[in-house]
Amino acid sequence: MTDRVFNFGAGPAVLPVVVLEQIREHFPSLPGLGMSVLEISHRSKAFADILSAAEMNVRELAELPANYHVLFLQGGATQQFAMVPMNLLPKQGVADYVITGSWAKKAAEEARKFGLVRVAATTESENYVRVPGAAELNQDADAAYMHITSNNTIYGTQWPSMPNTNGVPLVVDASSDIFSRPLYVTNHGLIYAGAQKNLGPAGVTLVVMKDELVARAPLSLPTLMRYETYVNSRSLHNTPPVFAVYVLSLVTSWIREQGGLEEMASRNKRKAAKLYAHIDRTDFYRGTSHPASRSDMNVTFRLPTADLDAQFVSSAADNGLVGLKGHRSVGGQRASIYNAFPEDGVNALVDFMGEFERTNG
Ligand code: PMP
Repeated sequence: MTDRVFNFGAGPAVLPVVVLEQIREHFPSLPGLGMSVLEISHRSKAFADILSAAEMNVRELAELPANYHVLFLQGGATQQFAMVPMNLLPKQGVADYVITGSWAKKAAEEARKFGLVRVAATTESENYVRVPGAAELNQDADAAYMHITSNNTIYGTQWPSMPNTNGVPLVVDASSDIFSRPLYVTNHGLIYAGAQKNLGPAGVTLVVMKDELVARAPLSLPTLMRYETYVNSRSLHNTPPVFAVYVLSLVTSWIREQGGLEEMASRNKRKAAKLYAHIDRTDFYRGTSHPASRSDMNVTFRLPTADLDAQFVSSAADNGLVGLKGHRSVGGQRASIYNAFPEDGVNALVDFMGEFERTNG
């Protein structure tokens, strides 16, 4: 695979090349089966093995105790914006939301359709350049749960650690940083993540949830909107996204082979630190997020003018560095450097930034 570019896209995002090669090797026939993974029954032994491997990898990586379930759903993280309140927010209850970006805001807006939402903290007035500190969280001790977005993909901010919720179940949208660092899961009630950044292709959503939360859902919920359906059927109530689960099993095996979440965290820290150091070296590049809230996954920065930003994006692409354009709502640059993004690509970007500043600065 020599013609590959460095793909800084925010998601769907780069996958480990060895995983892509494994997928290719297993086409058009999985070893000993005479069929590809796209053609097997979701009730087959072959898929049962794939699903078990995926679940076991998630359990091992997250060091899950037995009272946590691993579920594979569809509908993306956006569907979780609705499923979380549908299942966990009682009619007379209240849920706390911390608003640290547009995804967090969308999650809160969706929850308002199902019950009372309190904003425990928001950084909207600062254009989401940071996440709130512990002292800023105005929590309701009786909240059904508190929802946060661990990494804000668009703004390039990340919670440095999970907040202490004083016994209120913590619900985390970890779509853009799941398995990028160790997960201290016993602090969490529920974690969800669309797969297409750190886990595999689009089409499957991982949900990890504490058993005691499963039974909270009202009986009137549609079958596929109830977490209990997935718990009782081991994610096989109906046809799951077979191919996406298969690739997730390969990506999570890859993470384990690389040394697990500690190793991912140290690589991710090193990659991000290189970029931030270069951004901070002169005034030509300006980091857009508050240093204490900087994300190791999405590194956001700007050049002195919008014209230079546009020129940077296109000239970088000509040099094999693609997908750097910031989200349409914020502009500037965004280098998404998830687990599978190679350090060589970060080095190439740093070199390119130096050269671009020399010729345009
Ligand atoms: N939450 C976060 C933090 C995201 O980054 C995204 C997608 N970029 C979403 C939610 C929405 O995910 P999906 O498209 O899987 O619904």
